[in-house]
Amino acid sequence: MSNPQVDAVVVGSGPNGMAAAVTMARAGLSVQVYEAQSTIGGGARTLDLGLAPGISHDICSAVHPLAISSPFFVDFDLRSRGLEFTTPEVSYAQPLDNQPAALAFHDLDTTVDHLGAAGPEWRRFFAPLLERVDDAIWLSLGDKRSIPETLRDVPGIANVMRFGLRLLSQASPAWNIPLSHETSQSLFTGVAAHAIGGLPAMGTAATATMLSTVAHAAGWPSPVGGSQAIINAMVADLEAHGGSVTTNARIDHVSDMPAARSYLLDTSALNAAQIFSGLIPAKVAKSLRSFKQGNAAAKVDFVLNGPVPWADPNINRAGTIHVGGTRAQMAAAEADVIAGRMPAHPVSLVSDPTVFDPAREVDGLRPLWTYAHVPFDCPLDPAEYIINQIERFAPGFRDTIVTYNSIPASEMAGHNQNYIGGDIATGLVSFYRMMARPRTSWDNYSLGVPGAYLCSAATPPAPGVHGMNGWFAARRALKTQFGISEAPSLAP
Ligand SMILES: Cc1cc2nc3c(=O)[nH]c(=O)nc-3n(C[C@H](O)[C@H](O)[C@H](O)COP(=O)(O)OP(=O)(O)OC[C@H]3O[C@@H](n4cnc5c(N)ncnc54)[C@H](O)[C@@H]3O)c2cc1C
Repeated sequence: MSNPQVDAVVVGSGPNGMAAAVTMARAGLSVQVYEAQSTIGGGARTLDLGLAPGISHDICSAVHPLAISSPFFVDFDLRSRGLEFTTPEVSYAQPLDNQPAALAFHDLDTTVDHLGAAGPEWRRFFAPLLERVDDAIWLSLGDKRSIPETLRDVPGIANVMRFGLRLLSQASPAWNIPLSHETSQSLFTGVAAHAIGGLPAMGTAATATMLSTVAHAAGWPSPVGGSQAIINAMVADLEAHGGSVTTNARIDHVSDMPAARSYLLDTSALNAAQIFSGLIPAKVAKSLRSFKQGNAAAKVDFVLNGPVPWADPNINRAGTIHVGGTRAQMAAAEADVIAGRMPAHPVSLVSDPTVFDPAREVDGLRPLWTYAHVPFDCPLDPAEYIINQIERFAPGFRDTIVTYNSIPASEMAGHNQNYIGGDIATGLVSFYRMMARPRTSWDNYSLGVPGAYLCSAATPPAPGVHGMNGWFAARRALKTQFGISEAPSLAP
């Protein structure tokens, strides 16, 4: 790696790759990003799938609580760059059989009123956490190596304990004690299921405690026009600071890249080991190769000729709908997934962007974003499973379908090689694997080769469109390779 031609090469243009690229460029370095696909953005792309004229689909992520709340994006400040976010009045909804849906409004008081008998326990759970929301965010989105700011004063320590106790309560077999009503249990569990793991368990409980708290703070917004707007803003900033992205450029080995002083890989752990094969210490390579894949998702993008006819019309006020029924039903479905069995009624996530972004509808047609939790590498077409789940709570849904595009878990890596076997988290998400991601080490980002770092969702803190993995990895590269200890400002 002598005679560097560029300061930093970034492999992959997902949100973490772009976060790393922007951070390096803002430190005054030359940056070149290589992307295997023909389009930029990885898990935050909005594409015309050719299903209906003018209709675009968020092929992976769609709802972005952390694109306005994560420390990286607070500094990068998408809104000041002209991005418009719409925040639904109902952050998320949980349809239930033969009864009104449970709703988590953006506003906590409205949620408590709407939950009726379950309202007071919902308030007891979340109101204390809302006093210092940033603590919950930093605890969840830290690099798990530095002491969180919040632990540096007594009120902060008290807040960590509040967060921890609630998390533990929802990770234990006694999880029905603090949330004793079916509505509040189901509402919380729908969010926990985002981690596609055991219910109850620490990883899913941590995910739900943080995301549900944010739902009552910044809310669960989406960018107008779709997720791609986030990536486009990052590419614009990179280019304004001299960097560039090359598409259709898959990197299989370090020899495919120009010599650089640092390499940041927005790839799977396995792919990182392949790219640096022969250079990585054997012990590191072994642990990267053995990082376990997580459970999977299978995607269906629909075109509808009208809104989903939810039996409870309040569901149409929500940005995200967790379709899975009660806590017990979702826990059983996720247990099937973990055991490698396709559940008859898989937990499915649904979002109709037209509800909060009317311009997504074109000539009476609208996109519907859905995906289902399925076993790793499952080859089954998820479409009928998802249609049946939605029909269960929205009779007549089938009649609104004009067409759809379906991707089984086993084919998800076709449009993003990080999603091996449909593992959209780029590696198992358990509590332990949130800390030791992808391996047990003090420096999880380092690949054991000077200047080479993993910066994808396969590192701490966890998956999601928050840019933190890329930001943390880039800051390590800045420090070790360029002697820059201060994080560069990302402000517009
Ligand atoms: C169906 C689905 C729904 C989701 N919903 C949400 C949501 O609503 N909200 C949310 O916050 N998160 C959501 N996520 C998760 C989120 O999209 C990911 O956690 C996030 O995109 C991870 O970012 P990343 O940069 O680490 O990797 P990715 O976004 O996966 O990007 C990796 C990029 O690197 C490229 N690449 C990989 N290897 C190479 C190589 N060797 N050479 C060149 N290029 C390479 C890939 O092509 C890809 O473009 C969802 C994911 C999926 C799949």
